[in-house]
Amino acid sequence: MLLRLRANASRADLESVFGLARELGYETRFLDGGKRILEATRPSPGAPSDRSRFEDLASVISILDASDAPELHSRQAKPEPTQVRVGSDCEAIFGGGCVSVIGGPCAVEDEGRLLEVASAVRRTGGAMLRGGAYKPRTSPYAFQGIAEEGLARLSRVRAQVGIPVVTEVLDPRHVERVAEVADMFQVGSRSMTNFALLREVGLASKPVLLKRGFAAGARELLLAAEYILDSGNSEVVLCERGIRGFDDVTRNVLDLGTVAWLKQATHLPVIVDPSHAAGHRELVLPLGRAAIAAGADGLIVEVHPDPSEVHSDGEQAVSIEDFGQLIEAVRDLVKLDGRRLITPNLERVQ
Ligand code: PEP
Ligand code: MN
Repeated sequence: MLLRLRANASRADLESVFGLARELGYETRFLDGGKRILEATRPSPGAPSDRSRFEDLASVISILDASDAPELHSRQAKPEPTQVRVGSDCEAIFGGGCVSVIGGPCAVEDEGRLLEVASAVRRTGGAMLRGGAYKPRTSPYAFQGIAEEGLARLSRVRAQVGIPVVTEVLDPRHVERVAEVADMFQVGSRSMTNFALLREVGLASKPVLLKRGFAAGARELLLAAEYILDSGNSEVVLCERGIRGFDDVTRNVLDLGTVAWLKQATHLPVIVDPSHAAGHRELVLPLGRAAIAAGADGLIVEVHPDPSEVHSDGEQAVSIEDFGQLIEAVRDLVKLDGRRLITPNLERVQ
């Protein structure tokens, strides 16, 4: 049962709602930031007369149908933007006027290279390191990532460089282990509708980067986020990474219209992955700039000094120099609309 409460209900009036709920065996929780919609649930169905007993209370305006409740991701439920902070020192902040850029290889491979890229990302102003230990590949015969060994390498590099990491979790059974290494979970495009995985990361207490499925609508992305929010984790960052089109000059079609729409529809931060959208390194900088201009709260970019060495996505990896150039462009763009680029505090001991 959903109760719509008066905005100016007194403490005593509210207490009579909670008291009646307790007496009748209902558990309660607010569904919105403004504390106007209260959900009351019981393990077994309540008596039909319960409804009228709640309706009689002074602070209750009406009983709503379940479909009337504002969804947790919506601006209706929470008008002010959510800021997601990542890392023990909040090294990255997404949303609410803060922009952060994530850089790193597609997959965790050679540890020396990972260390080199992580240090360069940090030095040039990247707030976080990316890199997949588990890789979701279309073909079961393609390189699948180096799994547990990849997590161990990420963990060592994270500690050495002092940079928070985001890495993909593919399997609900791996959530606990990945959480030991990651500062943020990545749920990839191919996993956007893995509801068991969404529920599991929703139970964890780490932020989640949720990528849009390449054939999913904006509404489907928001409902995937809703699974995480409804499970108790409010730290979700959405990511547009390109959708499937009919032309193969780019790997995907970067849907910036949807980025602008999402910024209005939801309070959650929205970032853009220009690498998987473009598929070609020469296009990553212009798409990254366009994404920030469209209002994105950050970027996630694939970076590698020698793409000939890698087993996945080498053709879309930008050099360290190009990554640095992108950071400078983002810095200039965010200044234009009064936002702030979050960059590492380089005074901290490495
Ligand atoms: C990735 O980030 O390397 C990746 C596989 O991305 P996506 O899920 O967007 O394809
Ligand atoms: Mn990739």
